[in-house]
Formats: sequence, structure tokens, C-alpha cells
Amino acid sequence: MRRLNIHWFRNDLRLHDNPVDLSRHDLSDGEESTLLPIYIFDTSRIYGSEIKSAVSGAIKCGASRAKFTIEAVEDLRLSLEKRLGVCLLVATGRPEDVLLELVKQNVQPRGEQAEQDTSVNLVCQREICHEELEVDKAVEASLEGFISDGSRFNFEKIWGSLLYEPCDLPFEGGINGIPTTFNKFRREVEAKCEVPMPLEAPSQTELQTASVTRGRSYSATSMPTLSGLGYTDQQVESTRTVHPNSSLPKGYRGGETFALHRARQWIWDRDMLRTYFDTRNGLIGEDYSTKFSPWLACGSLSPRYVALECRRYEEARVANKSTYWCVFELLVRDYFRYFAARHGRRIFYLHGTAGRLEGGAERKWNRNPELIAAWREGRTGHPLIDASMRELGNTGYLSNRGRQNVCSYLSIDMSVDWRVGAEFFESRLLDFDVCSNYVNWINGAGLTGGRLNRFNITKQSRDWDEKGEYLRLWVPEIRNIPNEFIHSPWEMSETAMEECGVIIGSDYPFPIITPTADCEFKRTSRKQRDTSKQDNHAIEGPKGLQAIRDAVCKDVPITDGQVSLFTLHYFYMRLMAILSQQVRQTRFGSTSMLFPGNRFQALSSSCLRMPRSRETLSATSLRTLDDANPNLEGCEAAVKSSSNAKGLVFGSAMAAIATMFQISFVL
Ligand SMILES: Cc1cc2nc3c(=O)[nH]c(=O)nc-3n(C[C@H](O)[C@H](O)[C@H](O)COP(=O)(O)OP(=O)(O)OC[C@H]3O[C@@H](n4cnc5c(N)ncnc54)[C@H](O)[C@@H]3O)c2cc1C
Repeated sequence: MRRLNIHWFRNDLRLHDNPVDLSRHDLSDGEESTLLPIYIFDTSRIYGSEIKSAVSGAIKCGASRAKFTIEAVEDLRLSLEKRLGVCLLVATGRPEDVLLELVKQNVQPRGEQAEQDTSVNLVCQREICHEELEVDKAVEASLEGFISDGSRFNFEKIWGSLLYEPCDLPFEGGINGIPTTFNKFRREVEAKCEVPMPLEAPSQTELQTASVTRGRSYSATSMPTLSGLGYTDQQVESTRTVHPNSSLPKGYRGGETFALHRARQWIWDRDMLRTYFDTRNGLIGEDYSTKFSPWLACGSLSPRYVALECRRYEEARVANKSTYWCVFELLVRDYFRYFAARHGRRIFYLHGTAGRLEGGAERKWNRNPELIAAWREGRTGHPLIDASMRELGNTGYLSNRGRQNVCSYLSIDMSVDWRVGAEFFESRLLDFDVCSNYVNWINGAGLTGGRLNRFNITKQSRDWDEKGEYLRLWVPEIRNIPNEFIHSPWEMSETAMEECGVIIGSDYPFPIITPTADCEFKRTSRKQRDTSKQDNHAIEGPKGLQAIRDAVCKDVPITDGQVSLFTLHYFYMRLMAILSQQVRQTRFGSTSMLFPGNRFQALSSSCLRMPRSRETLSATSLRTLDDANPNLEGCEAAVKSSSNAKGLVFGSAMAAIATMFQISFVL
């Protein structure tokens, strides 16, 4: 009997602590066994500029991650050759086709008499999520279709790249017995389990290595290039340099060799493990956190190896909160894998694992291209979001805090379909990991059934970047804004803007949205925004009450002298623009976005949240009330429907404007 062992490397690109390691297999008497290790760049589902995500159409795997993976595979090939004298085959194409070709070359086809029976043993690290499981099915179908006798084909998927495999865990019922919250999981695991020792890297093998060195889709010597994987020249070019502000380790490369170097450097040489608990929320530099994630994600670094190093460090130097926390984070990573395995496809659903109804009320989502583009490109007018998104876009990395902030902002404040964000992360992150990414996203978007945890972006900015260093690093156009306003530049007065030379609305945008806590953010229609942008020029500069009135009411039909409160508010915005004589190109685009709701309370509070208008609002309303005979009925109604002083000011302003335009309004 001849046995063909195929080690299909997937997200386990390492030799240390690799449980899939076929060189450890015992050989039965008289058995001839051949080892064929292979890595497949799946150009039909993952790599290349034409492979897009389902919801947003983002490229699935950006060129930077593809390059990182090529480096990791190159490194693995060298190690296999050096340590075991084994050739790694590298292929491009669909795994089900590549593996079939490989098997065909080594096994007699169905129906033909084989001189010697061959059994095929295909082994890989177990994948958990839907798309990967579909690949498994396709591979299985393809090989089973070729090998007639099912008993001669064995497809083994082995748990790996975890601290704890299911068999190490103290829960009954396998994956389904795992607690529904992380805290319960952690308490049980910490009380009852110890992280198993990592496996040593193999130093020799008794298996013969493959004689096959080249097929149509694979080779034992060549390595695909980015162009060969389907990336454009421009995308390839973008990977040539590392951004100088990148917080990834200097000179980083994909692969196990660099991963082990980084672990040694960060834990031991730089002694950063000692203070990790205090530094982990940092935003700038390569050492505030481990930066192990890109290597953990593709399996070039084993979490058990990291846990063992932490234990060794505790014995040799110090055991403290920081050494505990590093392993704690890896446990979070484990939990998210089990969470993904348990919930299957639901981690990709719009309504997450919590289901369609959240607290009885339907979440409303949008896919507004303007909001999405502003978020992706880092020009929302909220400096912390813009800095974070620019870092991600330029370097392929973002701190955990940054990820939480931009996730909350997109999915809660903007109410944008969270999958658009998750897919963008998938495209850009060097450390993209399907379980960590999607479970963190549904968690951050409040779709796992727990409490909705909205991040107050301005507060986050003040808390974690007190002096605005991170903001100035990534958003240079606001560099000269004084510390007082760096976290909320829209609060600057005209004088403050002139003094620092940064004009909001021209040098840097007004906030594209008013962050909202109630998830009921409603947008003005595209048509309305377009109209207001055009009007921006039309209404600048009219003098005299009649001219102002005409300019304000322009293009908006008023039936029976009556308008809705929303329209009146829209008039108010136009009036403010005229009175301030400060209208800039983008002003109306953003202000109309800032005042989106049609509920009175939402309008009045959002109106007063914008300090620049607040001053002019009260001044104008008082002046107008003095000058004109106010529409007292409207004023009273507006005030009554609002319970606080802000409502009073707003109500008065609306009433005054209604009077000025000789119209009434309905609430
Ligand atoms: C919206 C969102 C998306 C994310 N997407 C990914 C992703 O695609 N890939 C990924 O590896 N991490 C993801 N994370 C988790 C986390 O942000 C990164 O693991 C971390 O920032 C990587 O930097 P580090 O290695 O220096 O982390 P450290 O702080 O040094 O942590 C050590 C390791 O613990 C693990 N870890 C830490 N925090 C988490 C977490 N919240 N979830 C899962 N594992 C964690 C990582 O493997 C990390 O490398 C995401 C977080 C959020 C909020």
C-alpha cells in the first residue's frame, strides 16, 4: 500500500507548534509514504483585484496582505527545505482543481488497474467560517469524484492556532456547550485549564518527499508575483514602500522567521511585556502593543508559543497584570473562534447573531455612498475617525481602540450597514482574520444581543490622545489647531479659525454627521442635499429683508402659506448662511447633513449642538423677535412641545423665522 500524504497549508504557515505536521506520522509496516506539502493561492475566491466582497464590492484581499502572504509562504518553503529537505509546492487557482491535479499525478485514475494501491490522506488546519467550509466541500467533492473507493481517501481537518482546542476545554457538548458570554468562558477556562505546551518544530522526517515538482497549476520552485495573482500595476506599486508613520515593526515581513524575531524582541529585548497593560491603548509607535496579529492571523505565529513565552517571562522576570493580559487577549481570540463556529453564517448577517429585532425596534441601516466614502477615506470631519481610517488605509494596521471607534462610528453613529465596514477591514487589514474581524464587528455594532456600546468619539479622542499627537500625525491639515479645539475643530469661532489658519469647511470638513445615540439617524434626501449645495452660491450675499426672504424660500413651494417644521428648519439654515456671510462651498452640504431629523426634539437638540449656530441662533431670534410681530401661536406650540430651555430658544427662532416669512408651520 502506498500512502500519499498531502499537507495543505492554509492559515498555519509555520513549523513550530503545528499540529497538522505530517512528518510526525507513524508508518505502518511495509507502507510506503510520500509527503506532499502544498500552499494554494486561491485566485478564484481570495486573491486578485477582481475578487470582490459580496455586500460592498471591496477587493477581498488587498495587495499588501497578498504580499505579506507571499513572504510568509516563501519563508515556509525555505524552512521546510532547510530543516526537513522537503519541497513546498506552491499553486495558484481553485483548491479543488489544484488538489485534484496533484492527486491525479500520483494516483491511478478510477477504473484503471493500479499496480499498487494508493491511499490519499489530505490534512489541513480546520477552518470555521462559511466560505472556507464551502471550499472544503468543493475539495471533498472533487477528490471523492476521482477516487472511486471512498475508503482510500481521507480528508482530515485538525484544530490548530488556538490556545485551547475543543478537547482541552471543560465544557460538555462540544462547541455548543461553550458559554454564551466571554466572561463565563474565561472564568471556567482560567479555573480549570492550563494552556497546553506548544509542539516543537520538526527537525526530520521519515516520509519520502514528493518526486513531483511541477504541474500545470503548481511548482516546487517558483513563487507567484502580485501581478501573477491578478493585482494591477498601481496596486503592486502601492506595496513597494511602507508608510513612515506605520506602527508595525520596522522592516517587517511575512513569515515565521520574522514572527519569532518580533516575539523575542518585544517580550525579551525591549521588555515591553512588563508594561503592556498600561501601554496597550496607545495609538502611535511599534511597541505599545505586541503587533503579533498579522503573523497570528496567517498562522506564522502560534498563540501557544506566545503563551509559553509569557510564562517563561513570568518565571524569569516578573508576573503582573501585563503578563496576564497578553494571554487574556489571546483567550479573547480563541473565544471569538468558538463563537463563530457556534453561530455559523449568522455572524455575516445584517442583523447579526441577535436576530432581526433588537429590543423590539428594527435597526435602520443605510448604504449612503457619501457617508461610506468619507469614512473610508478619512474625511468625516471627526479628526479621530479620519486619523484612524487614514492609518488603516495607508498601513494595513489600526490599533484595537481605533478599530472600536471607527466601527462604532460607522455602524451606530452613521447607521451604515456594518458589513460595509467589515469588508473594508477585510480588504485592508494585514492581520485580517475572518473570526476576529466579523465577530468584533457584530459585537461593536451591538448585534450579538448584549448592550449597545456606543463610543463617544470626541471623548475617546480627548481620553486617548490628550495632546492631539495622533490626530496631527495623520491629519496634517489640522496640525495648527490649538489643543483646545483639536478634538472638535468645528467648535472654533471665526476668530479662532483665522488665528490658527485652519478654516473649517474649507481646509478641513465640517462633521458629516452629528453622532447620535439613538440609532435613528435619518438623512436628508440626496436631492435635497444637491439642491442645497447649488443654492449655496445662489443665496450668498442678498441684502434687505425681501431679498433675503426670496433667497431663503427659493425653489421650495409653500402651499397655503404653511410649511412643515422640517422645511422651516431648512429655511433657518439658509438664513443662517446668509446672515453669517460666511458660506463656503461645503457648508451647506454638511449642515444639511447635520440637521437631518424630522422630529422636533431631535432637531432642537442637534441644532443647539452646533456651537457656531448657537450664537447666531439666539442673537438672530431675539433681534427678529424685536423687529417683527412674532408668530406667537407657532412659538408657543414649538415651545410647548419641547421641555427644556434649548427647545425654548429653538422654538423662538423657528417662530421668528415663520413670522419673518409670513408663513405658519406645523409640528
Ligand atoms: C472592528 C474590529 C475588527 C477587528 N478585526 C481583526 C482582525 O481582522 N484580525 C485580528 O487579528 N484582530 C482583529 N481585531 C482585534 C484587535 O483589534 C487586533 O487583534 C489587535 O488590534 C492587533 O494588534 P496587536 O497584535 O498589537 O494586539 P495586542 O493588543 O498585542 O493583542 C495580542 C493579540 O491578542 C489578540 N486580540 C487582541 N484583541 C483582540 C480582539 N478584540 N479580538 C480578537 N483577538 C484579539 C490578537 O491576536 C492580538 O494579536 C478587530 C477588532 C475590532 C474592534
